[in-house]
Formats: sequence, structure tokens, C-alpha cells
Amino acid sequence: MGFNTKLLHGTKAGDPVTGATLTPIYQSSAFYQPSAEQHEKLFHNKAQGYSYTRIENPTIEAFEDKMTVLENGKATVACSSGMAAITNALLNIVGAGDEIVTSNSLYGGTIDLFHDLEAFGIKTNFVDGSNPTSVEAAINDNTKVLFAETIGNPKLDVTDIPAWAKLAHGHGIPLIIDNTVATPYLVRPIEHGADIVINSTSKYVNGNSSAISGTITDSGNFKWDQERYPLMKPYLKFGPFAYTAKLRNGLFRNTGACMAPQTAFYNLVGMETLGLRMERACNNALELACYLDLLDGVTVNYPGLATSPWYDTASKLLKKGCGAILTLRVGSKERAFAVMNALKIPKIVSNIGDTKTLIVHPESTLSAHSTEQEKKDAAVYDDMIRVSVGIEDIEDLIHDFEQALK
Ligand SMILES: *Cc1c(COP(=O)(O)O)cnc(C)c1O
Repeated sequence: MGFNTKLLHGTKAGDPVTGATLTPIYQSSAFYQPSAEQHEKLFHNKAQGYSYTRIENPTIEAFEDKMTVLENGKATVACSSGMAAITNALLNIVGAGDEIVTSNSLYGGTIDLFHDLEAFGIKTNFVDGSNPTSVEAAINDNTKVLFAETIGNPKLDVTDIPAWAKLAHGHGIPLIIDNTVATPYLVRPIEHGADIVINSTSKYVNGNSSAISGTITDSGNFKWDQERYPLMKPYLKFGPFAYTAKLRNGLFRNTGACMAPQTAFYNLVGMETLGLRMERACNNALELACYLDLLDGVTVNYPGLATSPWYDTASKLLKKGCGAILTLRVGSKERAFAVMNALKIPKIVSNIGDTKTLIVHPESTLSAHSTEQEKKDAAVYDDMIRVSVGIEDIEDLIHDFEQALK
């Protein structure tokens, strides 16, 4: 099945009891049990079923199943936010004394999280993600995971996932990829060697900014070494479900990171058009980037432009488009603010992945907690505007940028 068919028909959908075409919202915290024996089995992973929504719920499960199919994984755990997903995905396998190697062009919130983890004895080594030598040089005996984003935000660098996976696996370490900006429509990181995939489903998957959520999808492919990952030992009997079983029986349930059933429903409705929206938004982004690229006094960064340093990696990895985010530099912070205020269609919003075009000045907002060096590494400049291109008519967007820049 192609992406869109799989999205609509790849999992059990609707309600088998009534024939409802959408999975209902099971707005219930807990579930009746038919017998004490069955309840015991449920708590010992010897039966399937539902007991408490913090652990699992039918609406949330329907959403998780769709994400598993789209990312071509084995199992998905849905979380209350993208950040909750990243936190849980890491702490499931990383503890005090361990280290993480990651790219220095990450989403600002994730960089902040890595700094928060220092208080728990977890050290993160930030490297230039486009340089495999520096990635390898940062790996040592304490390194437990490699982490990168498919498309860095807002640097818009494209990670060579096969190269990172090869490095990780050569050292017996799993690779976690945050696929939020690309979405499974453009690339399934697991097919290129990633072991675990994160999505902030608040963005393109939900599609209309109606709810915050995130997912952790495991490939089931990574072979956990008992010496290096001793806490995985009791879960190895679950085979390809070992990582997910540890998460769901441990940190995920105990930190209370669950998604709300209502959010799962919003996502299930929104994601039906993920392929259509991405196709349109990527085309719009490319057209807008080409238009802006011809203007004097404007520098455009978009991985779909041949001038981008990541054009080759993007062409290799992203077959259906290069994403729907671009940045433009206009010469000064004053001019950037003036252009933003003069734009009529794009709204000033610190978000991406909406149907509507959104703009933000990252330097004064999203990077407010970053050092000057961190901003430089993440390609954040004070004259730069980030544009999350929506699905409007491209002629209208181009006209709007034309008048605003004038
Ligand atoms: C937004 C975002 C996150 C965080 O997700 P939330 O749902 O806002 O918690 C993580 N990674 C990337 C790349 C993002 O864009």
C-alpha cells in the first residue's frame, strides 16, 4: 500500500460494535474487569485489555497503531507531548553516569532538556551532525544513545541517517531520530537504520494545532547487550517488544506521561490528510523558496534548493519533498521585525506544522535560553525569520511576501 492508502486502511479503524467510521473517544479513566483472575493476568502481562488510561486506552491505542504502521515500526507509545516522548525515550535506556551524543542543531526545547538531565548525572556531547568524524570522536564507553533530528529546526540541516546508524551500531548503541519536521510522509527513519523514532505529533500529524502530543515508535530491531544495558535484562524475553515493554511497565506509566483520549481522537481525525497536506505544503515551500532566492537583500535557506549544503543528503533521503519549513535572512533584526509585522497572511506563532503559514523570529524567542555559541551552532541569526509554510494558495503567499519585503 502507498502512504495515503496505508494511512486510511492500514489499521483497524472505527468501532466494530456500532459500525461508527471513526474510533470513538473512550473518555474513561478506568475499565471494568470481568473477573479477579482476568485482572491479575492483565497486571502480569498475561492478557490483553485495558485497566487504567494512564497505562492504555482504546482511543490512544488506535492512534498508536496508526503511527506504528506509518513509521514502519513494531510498537508505539503515545505521550502527552513531544518533549514527554523524548524524555521517556531517553530515560528508558540512559541513567546516571551515562552519556548521549547528539547534533548541535537540535530543536531548542530538546537542547534545554539535555541540560536539565545534567542534574541527574547524564552528560550530553553536542557535535556537528554533518561531520561523521566528530560524531564518532564523541562516542565513548559511557555513551548509551545517539540522538538526531531528520531535519534540524531551524538550521534545516538534513541528517545522514544511514551514516549515523552505521556509526551507532558499530559501537553497539541505538540511534533515536526525531522525525517531527520531516514526518513519516517524507521518510521513515527506521527504513534507513534508526532504532527508535520520535514524533512531536502536535505538529504535522495533528495538522491543525488542536492538541499537544508526541510518540515513541520502536523498530524492534536493536539487539540490546545485557552488559551495556543491564536494566533491559528482565524485558529481553519480549523480543522485539523489549524496549516498549520496559517503557510501558516502568517510566512511562510511573511518570504519568500518557496522552489524553480526546487528543488521540483529534490526531486520528487530523492525520487522515497528513499525506495531502505535506505534499501541498512541501510544494508551496519550494515555490516560495525559489521566489525569495531571486530577490536582492534576502538569503534563503531551504534543503530543497541546490544552494543548500544539505541538498544532496535531502535528495537521497527525502523522496517526496524537502519539508515545509524555510528561513530567510533580511539584513538586520529591525528589517526582520518590519517584514514580519507587514505580512498579512502568515501569523506570528511559535509553532510549526499547521495548515496555516506561521512565522517566528527564533533569535528573540525560541533561542532565548541559548548561549551565543549555541545560537551560532544552530544557525540562529538576529536577521532571520523562520517560515512554516502552510497549504494556502501559493500565489497569495508570494504576493504577501512581495508587499511585505517592499
Ligand atoms: C515541537 C518539537 C518538539 C517538542 O514537541 P512538543 O509536542 O511541543 O512537546 C520536539 N522536537 C521537534 C523537532 C519539534 O519541532
